[in-house]
Amino acid sequence: MTTTSNFLSHLNPSQRRAVEHYCGPLLVVAGAGSGKTRALTYRIANLILEHNVDPENILAVTFTNKAAREMKERIQKLFADHMAMQEYGEKYDLLPEYDQVKLRSRVYKNVIKDMWCGTFHSLFSRILRLDIDKYQDENGRKWNKNFSIFDDSDVNAIIKEIVTKQLDLDDKKFEPRSVRYAISNAKNQGLSPKEFEREQPNYRGRIISQVYSCYQDRLAENNALDFDDLILIPTRLFQQNKQVLNYWHSKFHHILVDEYQDTNRTQYDLIRLLSTNGETDKNNWNWNDRSTFVVGDADQSIYSFRMADFTILMGFQGDFGDGLDDDDTSTMVKLEENYRSCENILEAANSLIENNTERIDKVLKPTRSAGEKIYLFKADDEVVEADFVVNQIRKLEHENPDIDWGSFSILYRTNAQSRPFEDLLVKYQIPYTVVGGFRFYDRKEIKDILAYLKAVSNPADTVSIMRVINTPRRGIGKSTLDTLSRASQELGTTLWEILSDETSVNTLAGRAAKAVNGFADVIKKWQGQVETLPVAELVQGIIEDSGYVQDLHTTGTDESQDRIENIQALYNAVLEFQEENEDNATLQGYLEKTSLSSDLDNLKEGDAAVSLMTLHASKGLEFPIVFLVGLEQGLFPNYRSMQDPASLEEERRLCYVGITRAQERLFISHARERRLYGSREPAIRSQFLDELPTELIATQQGGRQANVRTSTNNIRSDRSGASTGGTGTKWEVGDIVLHKTFGEGEITHVFDPNNKTSVAVKFPSLGTKIIDPRVAQLQKI
Ligand code: ATP
Ligand code: MG
Repeated sequence: MTTTSNFLSHLNPSQRRAVEHYCGPLLVVAGAGSGKTRALTYRIANLILEHNVDPENILAVTFTNKAAREMKERIQKLFADHMAMQEYGEKYDLLPEYDQVKLRSRVYKNVIKDMWCGTFHSLFSRILRLDIDKYQDENGRKWNKNFSIFDDSDVNAIIKEIVTKQLDLDDKKFEPRSVRYAISNAKNQGLSPKEFEREQPNYRGRIISQVYSCYQDRLAENNALDFDDLILIPTRLFQQNKQVLNYWHSKFHHILVDEYQDTNRTQYDLIRLLSTNGETDKNNWNWNDRSTFVVGDADQSIYSFRMADFTILMGFQGDFGDGLDDDDTSTMVKLEENYRSCENILEAANSLIENNTERIDKVLKPTRSAGEKIYLFKADDEVVEADFVVNQIRKLEHENPDIDWGSFSILYRTNAQSRPFEDLLVKYQIPYTVVGGFRFYDRKEIKDILAYLKAVSNPADTVSIMRVINTPRRGIGKSTLDTLSRASQELGTTLWEILSDETSVNTLAGRAAKAVNGFADVIKKWQGQVETLPVAELVQGIIEDSGYVQDLHTTGTDESQDRIENIQALYNAVLEFQEENEDNATLQGYLEKTSLSSDLDNLKEGDAAVSLMTLHASKGLEFPIVFLVGLEQGLFPNYRSMQDPASLEEERRLCYVGITRAQERLFISHARERRLYGSREPAIRSQFLDELPTELIATQQGGRQANVRTSTNNIRSDRSGASTGGTGTKWEVGDIVLHKTFGEGEITHVFDPNNKTSVAVKFPSLGTKIIDPRVAQLQKI
């Protein structure tokens, strides 16, 4: 009996082969729900337990931070179960859960701490924190290890400024968002501004390359990187500096990548460089005690708009193996059993994806029973659709004691579709989470405090300094700031070099000098303590000295109270970070964590809540009950893809991903008419529906009336609050109300008081607007 036989018994023979494969390259290809991620997780545990691989020598790439966290937890559990079994034998199973947990944490608290498990972005930014000073760009510019990471809104603001001010371009022709997209694509293809420029055949392309070049100047001046740089710069660094590559190559003996079908060229380059130490001649590769293990499913490749390329997956054997035989079983394992979904769901997914031409046929057999039919609901409009979904959720939750709100997921094509569902979930007080909703770290007050922290951590970060130098108001006006910025530009220094020098400030800043010096003193004071103080103390001190919270207290509105609470939550997050990372908890580390927290990480564990997300965000996840909504031509598949066969196939893959998230039950819906982005349009059912076998589908139609009746059959529908629009407030003409964005106004009309209330509000400077009080959070004052 091997020492690991216990946990390997939870795998089928093919998975076991993938897990037990020790050295050399290996590709696992298989359809959805076949246990690829499980195999990858078990493989890590097996490497450590069976082959005594040091966790520090393992690099595991996941698609989201949340997936990385879960993977670590699972490995820890596998591990600790195993060790406890060794120690306690059969008795372990008989211990109460509480004692098992205690044992686990005692035995293996620290093992996974050393493991490099995360997204491409988090892993490689960690590498850059250690080595970026050894890199220089094509203009010989360098970055410091305390670089800032600019998020989407920072980047968009910079590009906009370059387009409209610095280069004085027409922002209709050079729409900043599309320019930014082009630059991001260039980076994802590994192109520097000069390389990009050489490829441009026309005027537009050449102008974009000019913006790209100015944009890079800005990043360098601010000692900052964007998300794409976190992948591109390590690639260049490894190519530039053989010693650095050699260090990381020697460190990571075993490399594992999940969702390999969605890697792009630069990410592929990183994996290849680390695996082969940059050697192009295969004869010189050394696979002794080394492996590169990737898992993926070409049918689930859905990120081509971010330059992901599933031919990279298909080329794996040629690239890493001997390249002679595509079916070489020494470098490939296929998994053919699906453990996730009931048979009807799986069969529907299989039939759908067979309509794609660009694919390799594969087998995916069910292991579960047929289950119920797929339920197709045809709604009059998006409101009826939402009514159907939410009522089904209430009914199912009510009838089944073993399912909770967390068992449900609503998947849609675009974020804009979430609102009607949210309205009803709020109305019925059902807990829910929108994955990809507004990030906590995108709130104004949080961005402001983070900007203070960034200014302390990286004083070259002019963008952050400018954000907070007069927030809260200190009487530093625009003309003062312009004078100071101009001076730094003329001198070729950073803004901070001017600000931190009292004399320069006294000379340049006129009446505002005292305020500017005051601001600079705060930053200086804490800069001096970055190395010595615990991060939580540092953050607390900066928050206090900034005067930010005090200013909010003075304002004293409900909104400022909310902001204060959010800042408190930020401080709590810092405390948590400090506890988790013990001696390694630095300010930079914390800032990095906030920059990389992605919108896909919103999904909370623990509290059971219905999750709402786009199909893109649902990759890799599973839920007992799934609602796939908005299956209409033009929406899903979307308009752009309907003209282009390759994009249409990608939409179909997205639909395949959606269907295969469901374990027990799948509901699909579409509407005859939909209001999206303002106008109401008739809608035709999606062509994908015709690609599902009719014998697997049960259909129902629902108009506004019919649906209300079906939905109230089994549950008490709380319509008593209807005259208040579900808000609990009675609205009357003449009421003075406060709207979060528009401010104070007066109600001039109340529409349809018996059912769905909406009100017309006259705002002094904006005119009259019609508002749904359930959505707008209107307050009577
Ligand atoms: P996706 O393509 O959607 O990412 P996947 O191939 O990664 O799916 P997993 O998420 O690893 O699949 O597994 C799907 C489900 O099947 C999980 O709930 C997992 O625990 C379960 N599972 C995997 N392998 C087995 C097995 N050998 N026996 C029982 N259950 C299994
Ligand atoms: Mg998976």
